[in-house]
Amino acid sequence: MSDLMPTIAIVLPVYNEGEIIERTHARLRAVVDALPYPCTIYYVDDGSTDDTPRRLAALAETDARVEVITLSRNFGHQAALTAGLDLADGDIVITLDADGQHPPELIPQMIDLVRQGYDVVQTQRMDEYPGFSFKRWTSAAFYALINRISGTHIAPGTADFRALSRRAVDALRKMPEYHRFLRGMVAWMGFPTVILPYHPAERVGGKSKYSLRKMVKLAMDAIFSFSLVPLYIGVSLGGLMLLLALAEMVYVLSFWVTGRQDSLAPGWSSLMFVILIVGGMLMIVLGFIGVYVGYIFQEVKRRPVYLIRERKRVSPRASGTAQAQGEEEVGKR
Ligand code: UDP
Ligand code: MG
Repeated sequence: MSDLMPTIAIVLPVYNEGEIIERTHARLRAVVDALPYPCTIYYVDDGSTDDTPRRLAALAETDARVEVITLSRNFGHQAALTAGLDLADGDIVITLDADGQHPPELIPQMIDLVRQGYDVVQTQRMDEYPGFSFKRWTSAAFYALINRISGTHIAPGTADFRALSRRAVDALRKMPEYHRFLRGMVAWMGFPTVILPYHPAERVGGKSKYSLRKMVKLAMDAIFSFSLVPLYIGVSLGGLMLLLALAEMVYVLSFWVTGRQDSLAPGWSSLMFVILIVGGMLMIVLGFIGVYVGYIFQEVKRRPVYLIRERKRVSPRASGTAQAQGEEEVGKR
């Protein structure tokens, strides 16, 4: 990193945020204007279907620091972040959500911490979702589970709002996995990390784009790509069943040894019970294995994590005029 003048890249994944994108940009601009460093803002349009593309294009026309990266369809938050991290150059790369929940006012402090030598400045939500909310409970349960079963510790309440040094970004780019859980991947890298707590705000407008389906997918990606424990659970359940079967054998034998075999009930119900349990366990174990096989299948296909339809930036030299540098590009994964 050039010690005197690091260049800053800010990456925001955007999916159907037409309602609020201008407000987000205005707030971000106030922060960036005050920064003494050269700065580029990358908006990754994750296949928005509302008027986001038009609004982003207008932002790029008025602000030469803005580059708009348009993905060919909706690939999801983690893929959009990956696209931004792959394309952003800059000595320090900062990622944050475009919905106002991640205060850009923290950016100067994050930059200072990277300049002090931390490769990862990870922000952490304090009392993230006040009251009894669904998000709060699912989030707490998720972090409790993942930290119990995976070897990589992931601090609760850490979202994809962080600053990364060039070294950390380059390391991330070398991790080509298809099922991406960036929080886990960043923690896994093990670079010097500092946690920066903040109080999250409400979304400034629009609705959460994380449907229940997307939340479950992210949790699955995290669990199955950071842990083999589900497979071990299967193996242990199988072991337990064998022990039970052994106990039952001993029990039945004891009737024969003591000559009471006639009093043995026909045993239809217990038999059914055991069959059902064993069947259930087998299905569970097969299911776990199936998920891993599915993940392996997707990894070996080596599909790109995202596809880029277009990159747009007003060239600083051609001031004021939009110069679309239309490009067909493929994620290098
Ligand atoms: N997002 C995205 N692609 C998606 C879903 C979300 O790029 O498929 C963006 C979204 O525009 C926002 C960020 O990712 O900038 C976080 O999404 P959201 O605020 O909906 O998630 P939540 O804060 O509710 O977990
Ligand atoms: Mg949000």
